[in-house]
Amino acid sequence: MPLDLNSPFARDIAHHIHPQTNLRLHESEGPLLIDRGEGVYVIDADGKRLIEGMGGMWCTSLGFSETRLADAAARQMRHLPYMQVFAHRSTGPVIDLASQLTTMAPGPSAGECMDKALFACSGSEANDTAMKLVWYYHHAIGKPEKRKIISRRRGYHGTTIASASLTGLPNMHQDFNLPLTGVLHVTCPHFYREGKPGETEAEFVERLAQELESLILAEGPETIGAFIAEPVMGTGGVVVPPEGYFARIQQVLRRHEVLMIADEVICGFGRTGEMWGCERFGIQPDMLTCAKQLSSAYFPISATLVSRAIYEAMLVESDKLGNFSHGFTYGGHPVGAAVALETLAIYRERDIVGHVRQVSPRLLDGLRALESHPLVGEVRGVGLMAAVELVQDKGTRASFPSARKVPGYLAAAVQRRGVLLRGRDDALLFSPPLIINEAEIDIILNAVAEGLDETLAWLR
Ligand code: PLP
Repeated sequence: MPLDLNSPFARDIAHHIHPQTNLRLHESEGPLLIDRGEGVYVIDADGKRLIEGMGGMWCTSLGFSETRLADAAARQMRHLPYMQVFAHRSTGPVIDLASQLTTMAPGPSAGECMDKALFACSGSEANDTAMKLVWYYHHAIGKPEKRKIISRRRGYHGTTIASASLTGLPNMHQDFNLPLTGVLHVTCPHFYREGKPGETEAEFVERLAQELESLILAEGPETIGAFIAEPVMGTGGVVVPPEGYFARIQQVLRRHEVLMIADEVICGFGRTGEMWGCERFGIQPDMLTCAKQLSSAYFPISATLVSRAIYEAMLVESDKLGNFSHGFTYGGHPVGAAVALETLAIYRERDIVGHVRQVSPRLLDGLRALESHPLVGEVRGVGLMAAVELVQDKGTRASFPSARKVPGYLAAAVQRRGVLLRGRDDALLFSPPLIINEAEIDIILNAVAEGLDETLAWLR
């Protein structure tokens, strides 16, 4: 049938640039048009129901039809649709949200919370802000040369110029003239891929801590401002850090007065089975960034939370310069704040963390049962985030050549069975809405098991 050039499908191809997409392929394949959402399902333009096994992009924690969030947005839109928070202006929702976030977020020492919240609209902006605050802080304490930031290969921190520099994925840098100078990357703590033959996990952790310390010493500790890390790497392949990793890393950071930034954009708000990934992995951050599940993605909002020490330094700079000259028009948007407040209320009322702890073994144990499949090298995860890593050879752990696009084939096979997942590099990634139940998890597990068999048959 000839393509109707006025159809949404054809107009998407004609007019719309899709981020993180193979643009040439899109011209021939076109979009997957999603019409509406219902619980953990999205429904495409042909009426086909698909479980959104990635929760949008690690973000729609409360699913796709939470009317309380829609009502909270509508109420706030009618009451006060916008007000800036520049130049001393403020609104009730922003004040309430800042109070709640700072009292719930872990700070730089045991029992200490964060001190202040600064709002933006995306995870990238929150991390850009954190990077600027690292520089600002070190100016305030008289160490302006302490400005380099250490991140990790395969870490993901966003796509703006600064946050893409922090990101440790080569395709986010190539031909964009990134990373910026002054951003350094160390080894990803993925024992299965980065561990050496015969090395124990404890030895691996020690090697990574020593690598970090050697880098700091080689560059000069007086030049290193901060270390940024996701508690569990998400986009880089759901890399759960080995036991003791963050404790050792933080010993090194403290020794050299390097700030710790926890990127909780994915992990924050229950994803790992704790409210914060920091709590799950014993991280005591000087700054914490969050977004995504902060509003269940119903409204773009993010926050950079800072410790008392960082805020005091900001006061010093503001005194010196007469102003804290940073901020976004839509940062502290009252509608975003109202939606986030309702989201946090629902998390509390429904004990979302408890729910994740209750249902996540169904997902993780179910996926681990697939480890005997010839294509599966490793299953890893925590809470409701997981990855199934595909290998060509289980003995050597050799990956498939990327040109064969095996994870992509598997994701398509799973999609034909009614589940949307993301195939990335060598792995299939899972991050369903946190409200998912065990019956829905079983649908995902069956689709993946059958999809793996179909992929194996296709490869043979
Ligand atoms: N940090 C992490 C850990 C993320 O996963 C992402 C996005 O996936 C970001 C930051 C960037 O967030 P955004 O896409 O909202 O800019």
